[in-house]
This record gives sequence, structure tokens and C-alpha cells, in this order.
Amino acid sequence: MAHKKENVTFDENEIKKAELRCEKILAGIATETDCEIVKEQLGRFPRGMVAVGRRCACGNPLATVTRAKLEDGTPFPTTFYLCSPQAVRAVSKVEANGHMKRFNELLASDMTVAAEYRKAHREYLAFRHVLAQKFGDDEEHISGISAGGMPDRVKCLHALIAQSLSMGRGVNPIGDMTLDMVKNEFDPDVCRCEIPFREREQFGFDGKSDGKSESGS
Ligand SMILES: [Zn+2]
Repeated sequence: MAHKKENVTFDENEIKKAELRCEKILAGIATETDCEIVKEQLGRFPRGMVAVGRRCACGNPLATVTRAKLEDGTPFPTTFYLCSPQAVRAVSKVEANGHMKRFNELLASDMTVAAEYRKAHREYLAFRHVLAQKFGDDEEHISGISAGGMPDRVKCLHALIAQSLSMGRGVNPIGDMTLDMVKNEFDPDVCRCEIPFREREQFGFDGKSDGKSESGS
């Protein structure tokens, strides 16, 4: 079923919180190196990416932050996008193992989790609203739409874990539970990257030297 459009308004506290969060996240503004790494991770250039939501212990991007509207005008509701190959693989396994059904049952039966999940949806939207204002992007076509099936279904754990990584624990309960489930394969505090950030800086993107070798070639 298509997302029902709703007009969401935020109170002063929600906006204030989103502004602080946005400021903090935009401090990790996406550099050219970040964009190149994400391009390698996703196999496509990350259009509209403005910041790194969360980095691996080594510095590699784990989740991207994307504008509400891409340069060509395409509306983009998925503000937080999971880009770590290790995380994507681990979360795909969780999805394939039938945990979506379990999470949806949990949402239907546990009112506390359901309320936290709805709040995560609002925090997602408030963040995007503040971000959109900063960049002058209009959100008309994605109004009320967050990601991952929020506010009342679980449809994509990748989107939810990306929110947990970018906003930190304690915001999205399902994203947090997914983080716990994949801990042995993916953990933002444990680098399992094929090429850690430092090595990239030293050797460039394809493991070759940067061409400044003294021996001459
Ligand atoms: Zn790493």
C-alpha cells in the first residue's frame, strides 16, 4: 500500500532538537574522499549526499545523509542511507531470516515499542525538515514520508539501522535491536572494512600509490 500522505507539524522542542542534531551531523560534511568511498561502496555516485551520518571506527562512512531533493529535482525521502558493505550484508541476512515478521508482530503487540517507533518517525521527519530548510529544498512530494516502513510497519531494516547509526541509540527501537542482532558481523566501533580509511589516504583508492613516488616511473 502506498504511503498515506500526512501533514506533519513540529513543536518548538522537536525543531530545536533536530537543529542541534543537524548541526552536529553537518559538521561531518561529505568530502570528495567520502563521496569516492561511498561510490565504491554502493557502486554508484551518491547524488545529493551532504554529510556522513556515521563513520566506522577507522573513519570510513557507514551511513550517508542526503538532501530532500537531488540536484536534478528528484525528491529523496531516504535521508539516512546505509552504505557500509559489511552492514548491508549483515542486515540483509537478518531480513532474509524472517525477522521482519517478528518486528511487525512486536510493533502490533508492544505499545511502548510502537510509541517509540512513531516518535522515531517524527524525529526523522523533523531532521529532514531542518536539513531541507538549510539547503532550500522543498519537501512537498515527500511530506510525511520517512523510511523503512515507519511510522507503523517495518519494511526495510537497512533504512532503520541507518537512522540508528546516524542519530545514535535511543531513537529508533527497531534499528537499535537490529544493531544488536548483527553485532558479530557489523559494529560501528569495530572496524571490519576491507580497506580502512587510513590506508586509503596513504595509498589512494585502488591500493596504488598516489603517483608521487620519488623513484620516478
Ligand atoms: Zn573501518
